[in-house]
Amino acid sequence: MPARAMTLREGLRNPCLGALPAELASHELVRAAWDGIAADKLWDAHAHLLGTGDSGSGCTENARMHERWHPGDVVRRRAILNAACVGSDAVSVDGAYLQRLRSLADDFPIGARWLLYAFDHAHDDAGQRRTDWTTFHVPNACGEEKAVPGAGRDDLGNPLLVRHALSAGVRVIVAHAASLGHARDIDQPSQAMRPAFDLWARLMDEHDWQTQLFGDISAVFQANRTPQARRVVIQRDDWHARLLHGSDYPLPGVMPLYAPDALAAEGLLDARDADVLRRIRAHNPLLFDFVLKRSVRIGESRLPRRIFETRDFFTQTRHA
Ligand SMILES: [Zn+2]
Repeated sequence: MPARAMTLREGLRNPCLGALPAELASHELVRAAWDGIAADKLWDAHAHLLGTGDSGSGCTENARMHERWHPGDVVRRRAILNAACVGSDAVSVDGAYLQRLRSLADDFPIGARWLLYAFDHAHDDAGQRRTDWTTFHVPNACGEEKAVPGAGRDDLGNPLLVRHALSAGVRVIVAHAASLGHARDIDQPSQAMRPAFDLWARLMDEHDWQTQLFGDISAVFQANRTPQARRVVIQRDDWHARLLHGSDYPLPGVMPLYAPDALAAEGLLDARDADVLRRIRAHNPLLFDFVLKRSVRIGESRLPRRIFETRDFFTQTRHA
């Protein structure tokens, strides 16, 4: 089935409402989401810190995002900052981003953590840093990229190329379970383009990588992913030990990217639960993302606790 495009059902702008009302915080759907989860093991394996460097953080953004003659970039910047509830009047973009993230985290039990990605500069074939190709840069000191444009080198996002790292013994987490875009099937003489998700699925089933290859499920429930990818992720319980929870924050706050009603229409959610999720999202997109993933079901199949309790994955040294 084809992926939906973005949706306008949820409006364009994140309403950025304040603290979660008690009625939602103690809602039966939220309590069910937490049931059995050890909060101190809940590490969000894919979240973003973004900023402009106005706090001395070392973050940078491309000047293009302020130039009227690059309207796409200007709109993208606005959408991302709105998702993170950074107002145009913020004294410091860096500070407002962090403050909002902290207040969203306050709705989670003590012990939950977020792993914030650095965002490298784009580099050219000669290894030279290209600030002109770089949308955001987040220094490390604190697949097919679609949320922000990079160097236009999506060919390097082919999941099958991950075999090089796996063969060298590296543990690899494929972001978003490669759930967006197409890549060349370099295993076949025709080298036809195939959904990147199918190529990642092929690697997941290859015997040699069972202890090394993983996927994070951030963004899989976004409106621009295929229903088929969602169904596979929920139903392949033999993969669940190798899937990791990630929110891809701040994207759960980009309103056109999620449509709980559409997930209900796919049969993954109860219509009443979709409504509760929508109300949670208006206050806390991060909690929305967690409760959504804990609520989706196909018959008896659901995303189990172990996908969300990722702490041990990051803290335990593994030996092949
Ligand atoms: Zn991301």
